[in-house]
Amino acid sequence: MRVLVTGGSGLIGSEMKYGLKPRSKDYDLTSIVDVYRMMLDYKPEAIIHTAARVGGVGANMNYPADFCRDNLFMNSNIIDVAYRYGVKKLICYLSTCVFPDDVIYPLNEDKIHLGPPHFSNAPYAYAKRMADTMIQAYNKQYNTAYFSVIPTNVYGPNDNYHLENAHVIPALIHKVYLAKQNNTDLVVWGSGKPLREFIFSRDVAQITSLLLEKYEHTKPVIISTSYEVSIKEIVETICDIFNFKNRIIFDTSKPDGQYRKPSDNSYLKQIIGDFQFTSLRDGLQETITHFEKNYNTIRK
Ligand code: GDP
Repeated sequence: MRVLVTGGSGLIGSEMKYGLKPRSKDYDLTSIVDVYRMMLDYKPEAIIHTAARVGGVGANMNYPADFCRDNLFMNSNIIDVAYRYGVKKLICYLSTCVFPDDVIYPLNEDKIHLGPPHFSNAPYAYAKRMADTMIQAYNKQYNTAYFSVIPTNVYGPNDNYHLENAHVIPALIHKVYLAKQNNTDLVVWGSGKPLREFIFSRDVAQITSLLLEKYEHTKPVIISTSYEVSIKEIVETICDIFNFKNRIIFDTSKPDGQYRKPSDNSYLKQIIGDFQFTSLRDGLQETITHFEKNYNTIRK
């Protein structure tokens, strides 16, 4: 099967060991003209759509219009053009921030639309919800067999390490690296109390391949370890790997974001069976090694 991976050089896409990977400099996925051209050039039978405008809580609050527009345009272009070209399978990535802020935990695949998402990333969350709404509509009207996956907080080597706009793990790796070099204290955003379920990018890529092979339905699938850790534990593990000994200051004037968003991975396990997830320590170690080795060329 000819599989096309969008976002092929990104955090998850770069861990896909197969697939055609058009570059974003050649095709702007927010442009329907470019998406048509990409489809003509590559003629895929399946699409794994990982491309998105993504960022941490800071970026989501500073650039709400960009997050809403770019994701709405990209997703609707990909879904519509895939259907028009007769693409057989399409997997689209959502995110756990699509879930309502006020909801009974754990999150599962039936709770996406039960209430408004958290205010800190609502424009992004609504754009991602619409991708699944559109997929379900196309499946119903046009008989396609497309589906969404919902990974929890993904981290891994090929991330964006921007100090202000990145997600928490890459931002903290960069901050600890600089604090160590400059012999300063480390300033962490928020209270350190929020809990997140982190998953290694390679695990997400491998699970996606299993789903592409085995999954025959169209209901979204949560991809998670269902294992929560606090931001404070993440900070301590990163500091430990760097052997960083200076003070750690929690700056509570910065946003905490959602307090927690625990998820239920039992549907995923029903489909793929047991999966050996990469431990947080091993994943962080590999990510930090990659970061240090490629400091001059990584996205930051
Ligand atoms: P979220 O799951 O969408 O909220 O994604 P983030 O990756 O932005 O994680 C946000 C959590 O990490 C919040 O509780 C922040 O307060 C905390 N955090 C601590 N330091 C940082 C940082 O340097 N960057 C980001 N993005 N979050 C940080």
